[in-house]
Amino acid sequence: MPLIEPYRIKVVEPIPITTRPERQRALADAGYNLFNLRAEEVTIDLLSDSGTGALSAAQQAAAVSADETYAGARSFYRFREAVADLTGYPRILPVHQGRAAERILFTSLLEPGQLVLNNTHFDTTRANVELLGCEARDLPCPEAADLDSSEPFKGNINVAALAKTLAGPEGNRVGLVLMTITNNGGGGQPVSMANLTETSELCQRYGVPFILDAARFAENAWLVTQREPGYRHRTPREVARLAFALADGCMASLKKDGIGHIGAVLALRNEALANRCEMLLIATEGFRTYGGLAGRDLDMLAIGLREITEPEYLAARAAGTAHLADLAAAAGVDSVRPTGIHALYLNAGRLLTHLPPHRYPGHALACELFLAGGIRCVELGSLYLGKQDEHGTLITPAPYELVRLAIPRRVYTQSHLEYVAEVIAEVASNPTRVPGYQMVEASPLLRHFNSRLEPVPASPTGQAR
Ligand SMILES: *Cc1c(COP(=O)(O)O)cnc(C)c1O
Repeated sequence: MPLIEPYRIKVVEPIPITTRPERQRALADAGYNLFNLRAEEVTIDLLSDSGTGALSAAQQAAAVSADETYAGARSFYRFREAVADLTGYPRILPVHQGRAAERILFTSLLEPGQLVLNNTHFDTTRANVELLGCEARDLPCPEAADLDSSEPFKGNINVAALAKTLAGPEGNRVGLVLMTITNNGGGGQPVSMANLTETSELCQRYGVPFILDAARFAENAWLVTQREPGYRHRTPREVARLAFALADGCMASLKKDGIGHIGAVLALRNEALANRCEMLLIATEGFRTYGGLAGRDLDMLAIGLREITEPEYLAARAAGTAHLADLAAAAGVDSVRPTGIHALYLNAGRLLTHLPPHRYPGHALACELFLAGGIRCVELGSLYLGKQDEHGTLITPAPYELVRLAIPRRVYTQSHLEYVAEVIAEVASNPTRVPGYQMVEASPLLRHFNSRLEPVPASPTGQAR
């Protein structure tokens, strides 16, 4: 039977259909920064898969019967039961976002000068480590450096480097080992159960806490069932439980695989650590039975956490992203392989070879997808990850010029994704027409959210200036 979205649509929201002159005006007004666009200017929004999922009827029904009691609300106990069933951790603290879980855990666990190791830190995770005067070090596996290979688990941590660091002179500085599943900063690639097991054993041997950054735990589990021998006959829920069992706890933004619009969880095995976290939780987020969330959020997340591991849903979601990757490839646009689930990462550097890194080919492709079809996505290349001087001139380019098309959960149909592919094909049919960009207003902090740019038209010889 062919794969179909295993749900039908009961509530609809119109999407804006715009003309190219309208989009040109909107983008110019936005300072050629896609973060400055308004929702009503965007036809297909692939900026983020965070907090953008569609709620199920069951979630909305749960919201209506939620309990908004200040302390001890029924909603909290339903949330706690859903998280405990999935993770097996005894102590469960709700928080308003993943970054709050990071701040609370790191403040309770780390001393200034300590080292945190991770396959790849998500940007807020890194920021929260550094805010405490600690060092956040990425140890991606060597396979991650090759964007085109079909290695199944490019999200893995480099176990040899991890073992060496723990055994070496810096070993006593390591305060925490994290594993990000799936590896968001590393192209949304999964981490294997074998890699999680080896990491868990090393952490136990050296007495270092091992915590999962589990925003996309269900998508990681699905890819394990598809790619790792020995797990093919397991359900994604069983695999997720086995993954949680290997760690001392997790932080999970539930705006992703919790299918919530807001919310996250910090779940821990260690009682003493959980007690320290709980004090900070009460002081900075809210009482331990709501943690800055409404009862309705807790109830919707409890249901989302059950729906997210349904194999039919995960199969259809993975197939949607793979289908988009295949259509882009057929149009001559490469993406990071093997294709993950939550996003497609287009190789803009390879498509727009006439644009050098300081003309930001990734940003140029993202802008062009908006101009050609009202699609919003985000650059992950030299604009975001390169190093600039104080005038905004690029000094060190990023290793790759990528564009991320994030796919919100249960929001767009296959026909929407095929429209996105048609727009990609249209841009790819004449790539040298795409202008580069230069920075006109650089922001020292959070450049990619705040800067303003302008197009630099290609010269008549097709060379970028
Ligand atoms: C989104 C995300 C976070 C932060 O969560 P928020 O809910 O956005 O604060 C942390 N780690 C990973 C891997 C994420 O994807």
